[in-house]
Amino acid sequence: MTQSFSLNTYLEQLAQLVNIDCGSHTPEGIAKVADVLTPMFEAIGFTVTRHQPHPESGPCLAITNKPDAEHYDVMLSGHMDTVFPVGTVAERPMTFDQEKVYGPGATDMKSGILSALYALQALTDDERSRLAIVVVLNCDEEIGSIYSREWLEGFARKSRQVLVCEASRPTGNLIRSRKGNAKYEIEFHGVASHAGSALAEGVNAIYELSHWSLAIKGMVNLETGTTMNVGVIEGGMAVNVVPDYAKATVDLRFWNTDEAEAIHEKLLAMAETPFEAGASVTVNRVTFKPSMQPSDDTETLIKLVSEEAEKLNIVYGWEDAGGGSDGNFTAALGTPTLDGFGPMGAGFHSDKEYLLIDSIAPRITLLANTLRRL
Ligand SMILES: [Zn+2]
Repeated sequence: MTQSFSLNTYLEQLAQLVNIDCGSHTPEGIAKVADVLTPMFEAIGFTVTRHQPHPESGPCLAITNKPDAEHYDVMLSGHMDTVFPVGTVAERPMTFDQEKVYGPGATDMKSGILSALYALQALTDDERSRLAIVVVLNCDEEIGSIYSREWLEGFARKSRQVLVCEASRPTGNLIRSRKGNAKYEIEFHGVASHAGSALAEGVNAIYELSHWSLAIKGMVNLETGTTMNVGVIEGGMAVNVVPDYAKATVDLRFWNTDEAEAIHEKLLAMAETPFEAGASVTVNRVTFKPSMQPSDDTETLIKLVSEEAEKLNIVYGWEDAGGGSDGNFTAALGTPTLDGFGPMGAGFHSDKEYLLIDSIAPRITLLANTLRRL
């Protein structure tokens, strides 16, 4: 396929996708991305179905060569949303030099979506028709797939394996496991009063929050990799008022999903017995992703991909990653899942994001050759 690969065409297509503001909360931008992608997949004979998981979300796309299939040999997973707000494209549209492509979502993960397209394009008609393939592109991965999770899990349940097309690492590594994660919003309610004349009548919500912050710090277990971080706090309205409200946003990461559940139970129990008399606490687990752990079937898939990478002389390894992806959901269903089939890149979620140009064609070939072996 490398003979037919035109970097210029690829970069033009990538620019079309990157130069659309399409943050998870910009549904009209995600719809534009879907509009650009739909004819690209239709051109290789795939059927594209649009799905609206929630009135406030963007659309999702299910793209398949076997519209009547009950089961799929493989699901390719990707997301159309980015973390960036409206205006980012105007500030820093896609650019590139000899070595790298820059721009919001260039590597996380518009290039990964194009990898799926190009790899499917590279297969012959016979190779494609031998397989039932579904490409599942959602609209809200960056906010924990809160709207699309059930929909995409439905495809994963019907698939023999899932290849997630998020970027591979600048080291060349693909991803065999990912930490699970959860986001908590914990709200603290007290009683407001005048800090001078009626201090004793108040219940200080910020004091309650402070106790919780330190208790949460005490739950961190660096040995097992169960970590928590109180990342954002808010509360209070004036220095002379006892605050009746405070809020903490907390990040939890883990390899062991049971440990995460134990922490969840502990937080709920703590909410029953606040530290400050008269305070009340509500614990809200806003997002939750189980950890992605390889099963025996995943090991077989790892071996197959490794063989193909070696044949191509690609520098690679298998990484256990701290960040999550939709692969966490699909692996938790028991469907063998590997991640990192996009081209190499880094700096995700920042203006340092880049994509390594030299890795584009080889990674497409690796994905295509992997598909040929399934
Ligand atoms: Zn991503």
